[in-house]
Amino acid sequence: MISLSNTYSSLPGRFYAHVRPTSVPQPQMLKFNHALATELGLDGKALDSPAGAEMFGGNKVPEGVTPIAMAYAGHQFGGFVPQLGDGRAILLGEVIDRTGIRRDLQLKGAGRTPYSRGGDGRAALGPVLREYLVSEAMHALGIPTTRALAAVATGDPVYRESVLPGAVLTRVAASHVRVGTFQFFAARDDVDGLKALADYVIDRLYPELRSVDSPYLDLLRRVSERQATLVARWMHVGFVHGVMNTDNCSISGETIDFGPCAFMDAYDPGTVFSSIDRAGRYQYQNQPGIAQWNLARLAETLLPLIDTSIDAAVEKANQVVVDYAAMFQDVWSAGLRRKTGLATAEAEDGILIQSLLDLMQRDKVDWTSAFRKLSDSARGEDTPFWSLFEDRAAADQWLSAWRQRLNREKDDPKRAARMDQENPLYIPRNHLVEEALAAAINNNDLGPFEAFCQILASPYVDQGPDRSRYAQAAPQDGQPYRTFCGT
Ligand code: AMP
Ligand code: MG
Repeated sequence: MISLSNTYSSLPGRFYAHVRPTSVPQPQMLKFNHALATELGLDGKALDSPAGAEMFGGNKVPEGVTPIAMAYAGHQFGGFVPQLGDGRAILLGEVIDRTGIRRDLQLKGAGRTPYSRGGDGRAALGPVLREYLVSEAMHALGIPTTRALAAVATGDPVYRESVLPGAVLTRVAASHVRVGTFQFFAARDDVDGLKALADYVIDRLYPELRSVDSPYLDLLRRVSERQATLVARWMHVGFVHGVMNTDNCSISGETIDFGPCAFMDAYDPGTVFSSIDRAGRYQYQNQPGIAQWNLARLAETLLPLIDTSIDAAVEKANQVVVDYAAMFQDVWSAGLRRKTGLATAEAEDGILIQSLLDLMQRDKVDWTSAFRKLSDSARGEDTPFWSLFEDRAAADQWLSAWRQRLNREKDDPKRAARMDQENPLYIPRNHLVEEALAAAINNNDLGPFEAFCQILASPYVDQGPDRSRYAQAAPQDGQPYRTFCGT
């Protein structure tokens, strides 16, 4: 039914633990991702079946497969934990996708592992469906992310604050190596382990670095570039990751760990959703700085590989971490220019765009709607944009300044259409996500979840008046949205 390899298990034994998924009483396929199966070169028809549910629920391990849980460490909310690891995730194996890229297939919620540290190794249905929905939405938005291949109900209850139905998510990643994986070996002064890990990562994710002069420094630079791009793109769509611990920071540059993440409604740079992030460490506007902090932790682990002189290594690595800031700023600004329809760059663009953000913040304007409706203004129809603001005079004034700026570019009949490609109409809005999950959990009704998945698959395309409620901002009930880690 499926043929898997496992290159990670050719690494030394201290990198992982052999472990088999724990059986579940009644595996049932809730959602299978046929488009992704095709991309992976898998037989979707065969897998979207009771036999597929047995496999993705953890009851049947395909022949010849040696599943593992990966060891890692990590800084959680700034505090270092030397021993984490896949506490509820089991790497089934790897497939080569249609483009020749090796991808991990991992079961999340498949039972206890040697790294479970008192946890039950399980996942509840709500968080599994939530990760399915949001990670696939991120992909459709064009943002690098782990993917969701299957969601399987287990028939087992999981015990959290209440008793909840259990489920297993099959997660697909270019690799599950994290900053925390490097920290695991660095914390043990295991330079051989570090080198083996770095070489594995280069071979798999950055093969162009195989024969360069300074592969480990260049590896840091590559990861840094990918993180800068990733975080900027998150912020362009109003995404708050919520738990940017170093163990949730992927070396491949994919978004990983969808626990407490959520999309911002009204623009507020201080937005934080996670109930455990009391100090707001991972608030919207802190994300670029936190990614840089995480890169500094990665840099520290790589020092012994970068140069035999520690001073030289520190200097070189530090430069990469410093350069990250400008790289982020470039991607962030370029994206904002595209979002506002600017095809060229002028020195004062930053001021123009910041003044829009200030107005949006002051009037608590919905992030997604504001940018999308600005394309109506590019078509000459100002009311949709302007009506979002309380201070309409200020909005009008901003539109005039914006038009003056656009007038310095050559007239572009495709401007509004280009803006629509940058500014999604549909995102996983919190109230709609909750609505879809509630129907699935409370009424066994996957209809709203299915419908929402389908809408989010084409986030930039107007899907007509029937679906207009999916494009609307949350009703203002005065209650701030809260997320939970889902563990
Ligand atoms: P996270 O907050 O999801 O990034 O997880 C942090 C650590 O806790 C990782 O080592 C996870 O594998 C582990 N973990 C989270 N939930 C559970 C669970 N239910 N059972 C065992 N380990 C878990
Ligand atoms: Mg995690």
